[in-house]
Amino acid sequence: MEDVWIMDYGCSRHMTGHRKWFSSLNPVSTKEYITFGDNGQGKVLGVGSISLSAKLSLREVAFVWNLGFNLVSVSQLLDEGIEVGFKKGVCRVLDAEETLVCSLLPFGQVFRVDLTFVSGPTRCLVASPSADIWKWHRRLGHSSFDLLVRLSSMGLIQGLPKLKAEKELVCHPCRHGKMVATSHTPVSQVMTSYPGELLHMDTLGPARVASVSGKWYVLVIVDDFSRFSWVFFMEFKNEVFGFVRDLVLRLRNESHKAMRAIRSDNGKEFRNSRFENFYRDLGLEHQFSSSYTPPQNGVVERKNRTLVEMARMMLDEHRTPRRFWAEAVNTACYIANRIFLRAILGKTSYELRFGRQPSVKHLRAFGCRCFVLKKAGNLDKFESRCLDAIFLGYASSSRAFRVWILEANQVVETCEVFFMKLCPAQLLPLSFKVMMKKAPPSLRMRKVRLMLVMQEPLHRLQSLPPLLRALMMMDDSCLRLPLHSPDDKLKQRLAPLRTQER
Ligand SMILES: [Zn+2]
Repeated sequence: MEDVWIMDYGCSRHMTGHRKWFSSLNPVSTKEYITFGDNGQGKVLGVGSISLSAKLSLREVAFVWNLGFNLVSVSQLLDEGIEVGFKKGVCRVLDAEETLVCSLLPFGQVFRVDLTFVSGPTRCLVASPSADIWKWHRRLGHSSFDLLVRLSSMGLIQGLPKLKAEKELVCHPCRHGKMVATSHTPVSQVMTSYPGELLHMDTLGPARVASVSGKWYVLVIVDDFSRFSWVFFMEFKNEVFGFVRDLVLRLRNESHKAMRAIRSDNGKEFRNSRFENFYRDLGLEHQFSSSYTPPQNGVVERKNRTLVEMARMMLDEHRTPRRFWAEAVNTACYIANRIFLRAILGKTSYELRFGRQPSVKHLRAFGCRCFVLKKAGNLDKFESRCLDAIFLGYASSSRAFRVWILEANQVVETCEVFFMKLCPAQLLPLSFKVMMKKAPPSLRMRKVRLMLVMQEPLHRLQSLPPLLRALMMMDDSCLRLPLHSPDDKLKQRLAPLRTQER
């Protein structure tokens, strides 16, 4: 048995009784004992690292006096972000990048680590990830890699580093999001000569689900010259007038150049006496796009499509609940204004409107996890200083971030946000995989009914419960699952959650 490693669900850590396996071994300073299944005890002599194969290394392995076996702890693997799954009687161990690390073969009632195994990646989403281009691809609403490279080489955006084009970059959310091919007819001429001269507007909706604040519709307004856009969220379509009036008046105040016209479709929300009176008072012309040729009325429709597409990919990436669609559309608009390039004018929408370059230094990936600092004051000495939150975009009137605080189930705007630094591979969508049906009978006897396997290393995520809670809130399907953990340690951590199952 000394050359066989066994996958064990019961043990809390990797352990062996054979010194020869260790590549490094440190003595332990305190007396530590391991209790075995037969209630016997083994003294821990040291802790060290073991390299089982080129791809599978074990850290923090206990060297236990008189232990006849070599055990790989499943829970410790899970903690390190390694995934363990079963398929047709074979157990497969995958690392955080979903590369097959080793496979396990049935060995009596247990699984044995197959050390002869050598393989290439089973599934690789990221062919040759370049940290920067991935980071910015996600922060900038999954905009195309080509655009990112072009923008970075033109130096039109502050805070955007030089990005290199990489071959075969495939982004998962993008694949899902960009199901419908969009045809962008390039516009070869500029019809207007200054920002605010002509505004295009259109409404979108109703959405399938109401947003968190109870909105169903979006009003999208695009400035023809800069293609700078605004989005407003509405419960009813007749709220359009209020938003248009406020924006028109604001733009008139901002610029000394006169607004000339508004262009919309024939929708009732745009064609009514309130609008007629308002336009007449300001001397604005109301153009109806139906009477124009498609390339001209397409401005706002194209923008709609872009925003919806970006929003969908942003929601997809971290599986943010659909009720945050308005936050996603709002963020998409915020990003689009900063990175949309009017190629013919060689500037971004933002620069065309404000006369200065946009900065993207503060941008973060929508839906990513973050922490919000609690207000000092009535904090207990041992109470956590941080609240777990999900990033939902940018405040419209300040430099604050919009975040969803999980514990309070509340969306707030705050500057006190900390983001987790993740490397590109870990930025792959979080996924909890349920592997229950395929567990062999021997494991089922041990009450392994469900395994939660995650792609992000646990030790980077500080604690499991808040994360699970977040995922449960995000994905309703999680709520129905019985949470039976293969291991006591994990079970303890899951206990507070189980009471919250609705
Ligand atoms: Zn993408």
